[in-house]
Amino acid sequence: MEKNIITVTGGTGYIASWIVKYLLEKGHEVRITVRSKSDVAKYQHLLDIERDTTGKLLIYEADLLKDGSFDEAVNGADYVMHTASPFFLDDKGDTKKKLVDPAVKGTENLLNSVNKASSVKRVILTSSIAAIFGDNRDLADNNAKAIDESMWNTTASLTHNAYSYSKTEAEKKAWEVSEKQNRWDLVTINPGFVLGPSLTKRVDSTSINSLLRILRGDLKAGSPDLEFLYSDVRDIANAHILAAFTKIAKGRYIISNESGNLLKVAKYIEEEYPGKYRVPKGVVPKFIICLLAPTIGFTRKFVRNNVGFPLKGDNRKSINELNMCYKSLKETVLDHVKQIESDNLI
Ligand code: NAP
Repeated sequence: MEKNIITVTGGTGYIASWIVKYLLEKGHEVRITVRSKSDVAKYQHLLDIERDTTGKLLIYEADLLKDGSFDEAVNGADYVMHTASPFFLDDKGDTKKKLVDPAVKGTENLLNSVNKASSVKRVILTSSIAAIFGDNRDLADNNAKAIDESMWNTTASLTHNAYSYSKTEAEKKAWEVSEKQNRWDLVTINPGFVLGPSLTKRVDSTSINSLLRILRGDLKAGSPDLEFLYSDVRDIANAHILAAFTKIAKGRYIISNESGNLLKVAKYIEEEYPGKYRVPKGVVPKFIICLLAPTIGFTRKFVRNNVGFPLKGDNRKSINELNMCYKSLKETVLDHVKQIESDNLI
């Protein structure tokens, strides 16, 4: 297989770590960007992985908000994968500064560097299904059976689902910049809620923290009937690589295989580890969630528009064009719990 130079932004992250691992195992030269090169603890696991592979890892410092910051890491690269973006679900405070600016300006900034680098053939943007729909009720409101790649989130804002807004605006910006030129093409990966084993012991990543909270009993009194589309972190990493190296890859790809509420996740854990974790066993009625909303980190508008609405995703484009093979949610969850246990995170 041809060896390439691939730049991965946000190389320290949960998803990016798996992308970098797979690329190194295939023998590529991987350039990661990190916020601070001196914070070696955040990427030591990748240096360790590199030692056992034929690939080569290079570390660059880059800041999403600093013009020209990505020039060096991108110059000479064949492919660029842009994963760096703040990921936390919080509508409080200055969401423009915390979420939207780093996502949107960061994307524009990176693509300006790509425009300067004649070597780059394709950019893979880690977007999200959050750029495809806003609230779970959007499906019913649009008489749709499942979300697909033709849809856009039209309901998120700085004060309602601000993270989703940051992903929507960032992806729109990427298409806008890409359409002004014809040297490189853009492919987006739109994951659902990502779970699965982490390559590090970090627990500040929203995905990792969410499963830990379920295991620690934060929802022992019951969980809201809130449905998610789930993705396996290893499937998401594979999808980035398939999107880069599959010639016909084009446009957006929903990468998710199963949906359901958190009771589905809890059931897999309870069946495998009976009585060991205080996972939720039932659903809390919507009116109670609505009453409690402000005290449990939700707005009432979020509860009204999301709790109790089924969610489905159409992943056929990923299967037909990228040849995606998916892991089951059960395997994803149980592998994640195994990693949490073996790393003594609980
Ligand atoms: P993560 O572990 O929190 O990784 C995020 C990465 O972005 C880290 O490398 C982080 O750097 C970097 N980053 C965050 N804010 C930054 C800022 N202001 N300036 C520079 N770098 C910044 O999250 P993840 O789950 O791997 O997410 C990676 C990408 O996937 C994001 O674009 C996210 O929106 C997208 N995504 C995630 C999910 C999911 O469920 N996990 C679902 C859909 C889409 P540090 O290591 O220095 O913090």
